[in-house]
Amino acid sequence: MKRLLVTGGAGFIGSNFVEHWLQQYPQDRVVVLDALTYAGTKENLQACWQNPQLHFVQGDINDQSLVEHLLRTEELNTIVHFAAESHVDRSIAGPDIFVTTNIVGTHSLLKAARQVWLAEGLCRDTHRFHHVSTDEVYGSLGPNDPPFTEHTPYAPNSPYSASKAASDHLVRAYQHTYQLNTSISNCSNNFGPKQHAEKLIPTIIRHVLAGQPIPIYGNGKNIRDWLYVADHCKAIELIILDDQCIAETFNIGGNNELDNLQLTHKICDLLDQQFLMHPQLIKRYPHCPAAQQKPCQSLISFVKDRAGHDFRYAINTKKFDERFKGCLPKTIEACLSDMLNTLLISADC
Ligand code: NAD
Repeated sequence: MKRLLVTGGAGFIGSNFVEHWLQQYPQDRVVVLDALTYAGTKENLQACWQNPQLHFVQGDINDQSLVEHLLRTEELNTIVHFAAESHVDRSIAGPDIFVTTNIVGTHSLLKAARQVWLAEGLCRDTHRFHHVSTDEVYGSLGPNDPPFTEHTPYAPNSPYSASKAASDHLVRAYQHTYQLNTSISNCSNNFGPKQHAEKLIPTIIRHVLAGQPIPIYGNGKNIRDWLYVADHCKAIELIILDDQCIAETFNIGGNNELDNLQLTHKICDLLDQQFLMHPQLIKRYPHCPAAQQKPCQSLISFVKDRAGHDFRYAINTKKFDERFKGCLPKTIEACLSDMLNTLLISADC
């Protein structure tokens, strides 16, 4: 049975992960540690609020004594580390907090885990530190370059990706030097429910509904791979459940490359269709072009490019796909064994 510390569990991916985990394993303990910065809100955890196994703690990953206290008192054996400053544009405007949270904060967590799990011996054999990272650590690809593999050299270009790269290296070093059980996943751009309004897809939708120009950087030709957040959460679950993944890194992607303009066109087309299917939207969003029988893509507007904008990210997911070919039977096995344990415990009572 897992007892998890989920850092950043009130943010976009973290809250989807907590919801996913408690749906799969409702009897597991899940302690969320989140500082509730501008990017996190307790509302993201609304769906699991009733589960008594969820314990929310507002706090900073840099507070090492708080993390040690949680690991000890809650007897936590797994850390899933999402907490981060995650927006590239903000890292360009003000990199300091990215160093403090993403590098120093990750190191603080590693120190706490080493102290409690290794020095004090709690969960010595059964612990796991899973670090959630990004494909941006690999830098930028040209149009015909092969996608990033786990062996692509790191070449981060923004303060955000540099801070994530540094944190990846620290996690790797704690595995190698102290034998802390770690794993790392580097994923592509996530999309899905609860994403913060400042990110690309929510920005496009918000601007279209308000009838405002959709700001597209440069010529809109920058390419990203898009991964649905639920698929990402499932992938992390599989990595955590598999002891063979200790000391390993996995690239996780959606095999879904689109340039920003293609993505914007897709969203605009979907919004056009939604207005046709649900005429009540016309009253609610009267400034949206679709409310005036005009195509939403008429709002596309090109703005000055982001400084140092990476041209393309693409992910080779072969390692993950091959490792988890038999993932479904394994997942069912793990669920069943937890259910059986719960049944046995309740039969004992
Ligand atoms: P997010 O910005 O939506 O959420 C981050 C969460 O971390 C927030 O709830 C915030 O309150 C919390 N937090 C920030 N600083 C903290 C601190 N010092 N202590 C405790 N909590 C703190 O981020 P996200 O998009 O959900 O990303 C989660 C992780 O996934 C990050 O590590 C990010 O680098 C990585 N990632 C994200 C994407 C993506 O497309 N969103 C892609 C690749 C990797």
